Amino acid sequence: MNTYGILIDTTLCVGCYECENSCASRWGFPQNDAHKLSSEKNTAVQNFGEIFVPRLCMHCQDPTCVSVCPVGAFTKTELGPVVYDAEKCIGCRYCMQACPFDVPRYQWNSVNPKVTKCDMCYERITRGEKPACVEACLPEARIFGKLEDLLTEAKKRISENPETYHSTIYGMNEVGGASILYLASKPFEQLEMRTNLPQYPLPDLTWAVLSKIPNYIFWGGTLLGGIWWLTNRRREVEAMERTLKQNGTNHENSKKEN
Ligand code: SF4
Ligand code: SF4
Ligand code: SF4
Repeated sequence: MNTYGILIDTTLCVGCYECENSCASRWGFPQNDAHKLSSEKNTAVQNFGEIFVPRLCMHCQDPTCVSVCPVGAFTKTELGPVVYDAEKCIGCRYCMQACPFDVPRYQWNSVNPKVTKCDMCYERITRGEKPACVEACLPEARIFGKLEDLLTEAKKRISENPETYHSTIYGMNEVGGASILYLASKPFEQLEMRTNLPQYPLPDLTWAVLSKIPNYIFWGGTLLGGIWWLTNRRREVEAMERTLKQNGTNHENSKKEN
């Protein structure tokens, strides 16, 4: 199974906001001039002088939102997108606290509030179409494709134009890698991208490890304790389900043999 992603080349972005508008249309959200992620904006183009930086869910390879959700409302699909099932969500908002990229938003003003975030236009992808924002981007600052091809393309652009690009591909290694990759002319910390993240998946961390990393202390002991408990509790439940299933299969087999 191919895994897909989006390469965002910020050196090509002209700040036309067509991606924001296209995304809003796809979700039925209103269009507005607030260029920041919100419960009505799943992609936002931030402006740093002459540089424009589109933001959206990073679609992490091993997403923390998936691991902390106690009811399995988030799924990392085989195609690459991390999708959210509003029907399962109980509104605990652990995903919002745990996301290292500060992506999920909450519909605080809704009578039936849900979490919102980009799903990489999963349904469009399954139909063989590009994500709406990619299709809307005429300068091709966003391109969609197989993740390995996008990585090759990003490396090629850097090696062929070292005077244009900063040498880092953001998203390649952060928290174990993501399906959204970025190129830029400047170091990413100057574009308000978090560059102090570990290069391994956060779900691998336990409270004991996290508590020794100063950058994570602000998350708070209660939250991390909760994340640790939920993650491990889910694993326990999954292990129990596997055992029960296995026992059921063995029971069926022994019935057939008798
Ligand atoms: S960026 Fe945040 S919301 Fe998106 S997949 Fe990663 S952990 Fe989940
Ligand atoms: S991939 Fe789809 S949902 Fe995500 S930002 Fe682009 S248009 Fe919006
Ligand atoms: S449509 Fe493309 S060029 Fe226009 S703001 Fe979005 S990413 Fe940038």
